[in-house]
Amino acid sequence: MVFDIKKIRADFPILKRKVNGYNFVYLDNAATSQKPIQVIDSISDYYKNYNSNIHRGVHSVSQEATDAYEGARIKIQNHFNVKKSHEIILTSGTTHSINLVANGFLEILDEKDEIIISGLEHHSNIVPWQMMAARNGVKIKIIPIDENGDLNLNIYDSLLNSKTKLVFVNHVSNALGTVNPIKEIINKAHNVGAAVLVDGAQASAHFKPDLQELDVDFYTTSAHKLCGPTGIGMLYGKEKWLQKMPPYQGGGEMISEVTFEKTTYAELPHKFEAGTPNISGAIAFGVAIDYLNELGLENIHKYESSLLDYATEKLKSITNLKIYGESENKTSVISFNIEGIHAYDIGTLLDKFGVAVRTGQHCAQPIMDHFGISGTVRASLAFYNTKEEIDILFSSLKRAISMLS
Ligand SMILES: *Cc1c(COP(=O)(O)O)cnc(C)c1O
Repeated sequence: MVFDIKKIRADFPILKRKVNGYNFVYLDNAATSQKPIQVIDSISDYYKNYNSNIHRGVHSVSQEATDAYEGARIKIQNHFNVKKSHEIILTSGTTHSINLVANGFLEILDEKDEIIISGLEHHSNIVPWQMMAARNGVKIKIIPIDENGDLNLNIYDSLLNSKTKLVFVNHVSNALGTVNPIKEIINKAHNVGAAVLVDGAQASAHFKPDLQELDVDFYTTSAHKLCGPTGIGMLYGKEKWLQKMPPYQGGGEMISEVTFEKTTYAELPHKFEAGTPNISGAIAFGVAIDYLNELGLENIHKYESSLLDYATEKLKSITNLKIYGESENKTSVISFNIEGIHAYDIGTLLDKFGVAVRTGQHCAQPIMDHFGISGTVRASLAFYNTKEEIDILFSSLKRAISMLS
């Protein structure tokens, strides 16, 4: 397949708009991706044609909605190569998924146990564990990162022992783009009997992980990072863990029988899906997965790598520009600073020229502390970006620097 960038861009209505009089150059894809028309249309199609509550109606339209919702679960199952569809829990996103697991382990673990968190984590893979540890007394250990933004696996080895029960690592760092060696991290954890949760929020727009081959215990992502809508995501959990963990929220959908004396819970996956879910969101999540698969994740990865090389080389030619995160293995994220200029000022001026980047800590303050900085400018590229847009970033950046220095 040829990567027909013109045709691809035509699928994304927002890319045609102007910002502050300039063509909109969207380079904040690590915060959220843009949505193709297929995904947008699937949401209005649901509300126009078959809006109904699911799993409970005897009527035809409710059945149509249920089929579409459960069909999305199967698409997600197949995409991530998961054995059983009830191992896929539909959540509101990565943050919800991680809180669900942290709640699940609250009573399984106690003060004799240890957990390990990678130093590259997003706040949403740090704070829920700290909240859990404050209640059950678990000891938290951290895998440090080196100058390039890679995890120090020798220190990881020394942290693992028979008390280690859980390890948390992201597949790809949202702040630096580092792709972590998750297979190796998982194998080492399993050698001491620990389970691993991989936060795949930043990876799933770039890779198609095979969860059975990885043998990971938990994997999570948010649809909005991979061309789907906000407010929907998934948690994969091995059946044995999902059976062991208590429900996260109580309500409708998640019960089998309710009396005021005793309630029994529904089977998986419904045990973890209390209340009316985001039905249109789940359906659109499935459509987003179809869209990415039609383009081919390998084609996407190849195209984005060439964009990353082009952008990295161009930006490096700017004097006093320092890139943070230069792992051999990274996705199309460039985090940088210009010496003597605050990241926020650069971001504000780039916006004046229609270029959207993120500035600040990127929900990963420990990484910024590691480099001794308050934040960075982050340009994150997607498969619908172009070399021309990189050229605009470059010239706008030069303009901003000359105005600020
Ligand atoms: C975006 C992101 C999250 C949080 O995802 P939400 O959709 O906001 O819940 C967590 N981890 C990583 C690595 C992310 O990129």
